[in-house]
Amino acid sequence: MDVTESKQETTTRTGEEFRAAYVAIIGRPNVGKSTLMNRLLQQKLSIVSPRPQTTWHRILGIRNLPQAQLLFLDTPGMHKSDAVFNQGLVRSARRAMADADIILWLLDASRPEDPDDQLILEQLREGKPTRATVILALNKVDLVEKPLLLPMIDRWREAYPVAEIIPISATKGDNLARLESVLVQHAPVGRPFYPPEELSDRPERFFIAESLREKVFGLLHEELPYAVAVQVEAVRAREGRDLTDVEATIYVEKESQKAIVIGAGGQMLKKIGALARPEIEAMLETRVFLRLWVKVLEGWRTDQVALKRFGYLEP
Ligand code: GDP
Ligand code: MG
Repeated sequence: MDVTESKQETTTRTGEEFRAAYVAIIGRPNVGKSTLMNRLLQQKLSIVSPRPQTTWHRILGIRNLPQAQLLFLDTPGMHKSDAVFNQGLVRSARRAMADADIILWLLDASRPEDPDDQLILEQLREGKPTRATVILALNKVDLVEKPLLLPMIDRWREAYPVAEIIPISATKGDNLARLESVLVQHAPVGRPFYPPEELSDRPERFFIAESLREKVFGLLHEELPYAVAVQVEAVRAREGRDLTDVEATIYVEKESQKAIVIGAGGQMLKKIGALARPEIEAMLETRVFLRLWVKVLEGWRTDQVALKRFGYLEP
C-alpha cells in the first residue's frame, strides 16, 4: 500500500483537516479479520499491541497517516454455536462496535452464504451501535470468479444499508489502498487520539492509557457517553524488584463526572484499577502498583492548553 496515494486522496477531499477514528473490524471467525489488520499495519508508522492473544480482549493497532489516525480493533469472531464460550466473544465484539466510529464488517466472499454472518446482520439491525458508520469489505476475492462479485455486492447492499462495499483480498493486498482511503474519508474530523511521536517512543504508555480508557468506557458508557482522557504520569520499575509503579490520571470535564468515576467510597475507581491492572501486568511482565487519580479539566476536549498538555498539539 502506498502512503502517498492515501495522502493525496485525503488532501483533495478534506483540505487540511485531520481525521481520527476507532475502526472495529468485525466478522465471523475465519473471514480474515486478523490477516487484514496485520496487513494494514505492516508498515511504517503503525503500532500493534505487544501481547495480543493473552492480554487484550480486543487487539488494537494504530495506523498513523499524514492526515489521519486509524485505530483498529480486531475482535474475536461471533458465531452462534458453543453458546457459553461465545457469549464472551459476542460481548467483546459488541463492546468494540459500541466504542467505534467505523465498523469494518468483513465477509468471506468465497463463502457468502454462511449463517453466522446473519448473526452480525441481526446485531447491526438491532441498531447497536448507533453512531458508527458501517463499511462492508468482501474479503478473499482472489478465490472468487469475477462475474459472481457484482451480484454478491448487490445482494448485500439490499440486506443492510452500509456506507460502502469494497471487494478486497487481505492476503494478496488487492484494493487495500482503496479500503484505507475510504476509512479515512469516513473518519470524523478530529485530532489524533494519541500523538504519533509518543507512540513510537513509548508504546507501553499508550497501551496503559488505552486499557484504562477501555475500562472506564466499559463500566460507565451510559453515564459518561464521551470518551475520557487518560494521561499516564509515570511508569517506574522498582530496582531489583518484580514491581512497577504506574501512575495515571483520568480526566473528566465536570465535578459530577468526577464523582461518577470515583464512585461511592471510591468503589468505581477501585474497579477500574482492578480490571486494568492484570492487563498492564501482563504487558509489562511485572507486578504493578497502580495509582489512579481523577481530575476535572473543564472543556478539555476543546481547550487548546489542555490538548497541548496531552500532547495532541505541538507546544
Ligand atoms: P479471522 O478469524 O477473521 O481473524 O481470520 P484470519 O485472519 O485468521 O484468517 C483465516 C484464514 O483465511 C487464514 O488461513 C488466512 O490466511 C485466510 N485468508 C485471509 N484473508 C484471505 C484472502 O484475502 N484470501 C485468501 N485466499 N485467504 C485469506
Ligand atoms: Mg482473528
